[in-house]
Amino acid sequence: MTVPEDHSTEPGASTDRSAVARLVHATKTFGTGDAAVTALNDATIDFLEGEFTAVMGPSGSGKSTLMYCQSGLDRLTSGHAYIGDVDVSTLTDQELSVLRRSTLGFIFQSFHLVPALSARENITLPVDLDSDAVVDDAFLAELASVLGIEHRLENLPSQLSGGQRQRVAVARAMIPRPDVIFADEPTGALDSKTSGELLSYLRTAVDDLGQTIVMVTHDAVAASHCDRVVYVQDGFLVDEARNPTVDDVLDKIRELS
Ligand code: ADP
Ligand code: MG
Repeated sequence: MTVPEDHSTEPGASTDRSAVARLVHATKTFGTGDAAVTALNDATIDFLEGEFTAVMGPSGSGKSTLMYCQSGLDRLTSGHAYIGDVDVSTLTDQELSVLRRSTLGFIFQSFHLVPALSARENITLPVDLDSDAVVDDAFLAELASVLGIEHRLENLPSQLSGGQRQRVAVARAMIPRPDVIFADEPTGALDSKTSGELLSYLRTAVDDLGQTIVMVTHDAVAASHCDRVVYVQDGFLVDEARNPTVDDVLDKIRELS
């Protein structure tokens, strides 16, 4: 385990709450020579405990790369990505997958549920696959209630609406009590009503359960549900704001593009 140096005086860093995830001078380059693309360029940022952060920017600006490198799904070219005090770049692939399973949750636009398993079985799958973990039935009941799927737990995915399936995926990400949930465009495939519901469930998870969430999105409405929005442009972290409104975010996007 590598203890991070104190970078609290750097831009993007913060001191008043503990950082559950942190990038320090993080750079990711794909390809070499003329074909090289620097998708993330010297990014330093803290993601704080109990906060809901949106990562915004135009298509191709490096949002997914930031999320993938921060969460250990991909490796940086240089710099550091910490989860808690652990520098993920020092871990082997196997150690990384253990860290991801034990401390992180993921929600993607395509959230595959297992068709032959009930909603309950889909939610508990990550815990069931971990021989060291047991399902906390009380927490499952609380999550199902917060997400409004308490009467749907014995249904198969095919018996659920799209929004209910997405909420099952949220519960599945939350059930191992991850230190942080990373979501990449979780509303990208949803209609505006379902999208609004999902965002309010994520908001509730933060407010009522203290969940930390980092959500990549290009949707200003989605970002307005967050405590903080950070803007990425051409691989650089260019700005951030707290408690953004839809208009704030739209203005900023216009300025950036
Ligand atoms: P965003 O999520 O903001 O749309 P990405 O992080 O996916 O942006 O991509 C940022 C840049 O990196 C883009 O120019 C993209 O083409 C490039 N990129 C992303 N992944 C790869 C990859 N695996 N190989 C080569 N280039 C990539
Ligand atoms: Mg992306």
